[in-house]
Amino acid sequence: TGPKVVVVGGGFGGATAAKYVKRYLPGANVVLIDAAKTHFTCPFSNTVIGGMNSMAFIERSFDALANKYGITVVTDMVTAIDPVTKVVKTKGGISFGYDKLVVSPGVDLKWGALEGYDEAAAELMPHAWKAGPQTALLRKQLEAMPNGGTVMISAPGNPFRCPPGPYERASLIAYYLKTQKPKSKLIILDAKDAFAKDKLFKEGWEKMYDNIIEWVPAAKNGKVVKVDAKAGVLETDFDKFKPAVANVIPPQSAGAIALSTGLADKSGFCPVDPNTFESTLHKDIFVIGDACTAGEMPKSGYSASSQAKVAAGAIAAMVMGDKPAAMSAINTCYSLLAPDYGISVSGVYSVQDGKIANIKGAGGVSPSGANYQFRKKEADFAGGWYASICQDTWG
Ligand code: FAD
Repeated sequence: TGPKVVVVGGGFGGATAAKYVKRYLPGANVVLIDAAKTHFTCPFSNTVIGGMNSMAFIERSFDALANKYGITVVTDMVTAIDPVTKVVKTKGGISFGYDKLVVSPGVDLKWGALEGYDEAAAELMPHAWKAGPQTALLRKQLEAMPNGGTVMISAPGNPFRCPPGPYERASLIAYYLKTQKPKSKLIILDAKDAFAKDKLFKEGWEKMYDNIIEWVPAAKNGKVVKVDAKAGVLETDFDKFKPAVANVIPPQSAGAIALSTGLADKSGFCPVDPNTFESTLHKDIFVIGDACTAGEMPKSGYSASSQAKVAAGAIAAMVMGDKPAAMSAINTCYSLLAPDYGISVSGVYSVQDGKIANIKGAGGVSPSGANYQFRKKEADFAGGWYASICQDTWG
């Protein structure tokens, strides 16, 4: 008899939204649908690729959401959403009607946007930009690589999931090479000329990986324009490379279900009301996390979680006939450069001139030139952040 709230996607955005809607509206009938039985988190997946943690470390179960919080958890793929009749349909043949729908499918990879890079190519040159089998595959390739081999990472242009992610990955792979395969090198071929926390990354690389990591910006012919996965070749405008291991991170869009429902605009991501995250294209559908366009908030798990709480609050207010509160959200992205070396960037956000923007003077980045104890402390904070957000999301 309570309101029906359906959530598509049980990652950082969706699982948090389901939990907080149920918390704010205990009488609601909340259904969470995810295609997978368990969720592998992208946060800390770079530590698996670097050999510091196992796949089990990043695997999360939906059991607590079902057993402790009274959410109906369904393992199935959502194949269609009808925003007019307000029905969600799954591959398994089930239909769910909703009063309010939360869509948090994360990103999908734009196959073919980088010439030659399709699903088959990803089995040879993993992206590992969705955690799971791709993460394990990249790790396996690094383990099989001879000492002296070169690893290449192709980093995409903006916008993409987790702006500092490729550079954290480069750091943790370099840590593995330094300790296990010291004759090896890592080259980042970048479609950009600047990246998140770049000064801090470069400072750390100079200290720890001076002879290992080379970063090639777009201006120096770093942008990969074509791949031939079978031949193992990456091409920029003027060069061809044949690395021992290639990690290709291609351009991305909102998850396929958001596109097929007509929730995205021509940017490939979904425009939303910045105060509530309700789609501006379809009423009663809230798009959160990587799939939405959220002004200055980066596409991160922490952003997704923060947006989920804003959307859950707005849904509860609307159901109770109240006006949603003004939006307020936060994000911190920690990056590890080594197991004992962390850096971070934080932001606090509000709606300014109709757009989600950083509140000036709140947040900021870690200082440059900090000593060992400081970086070690930030690495510890990164571990604490991961444990607490996983608890908040799925625990
Ligand atoms: P996701 O967490 O990807 O969840 C989407 C879920 O939806 C998935 O479980 C999927 O199975 C499900 N799904 C999709 N389509 C359907 C469908 N049609 N039917 C049913 N289910 C569906 N963020 C941080 O805050 N901190 C970090 O340290 C960090 N590190 C990162 C490192 C890497 C290498 C990468 C790639 C990302 C990292 N991120 C980090 C970013 C973070 O992973 C994403 O921003 C976050 O996962 C977004 O949450 P989401 O809910 O939008 O999507």
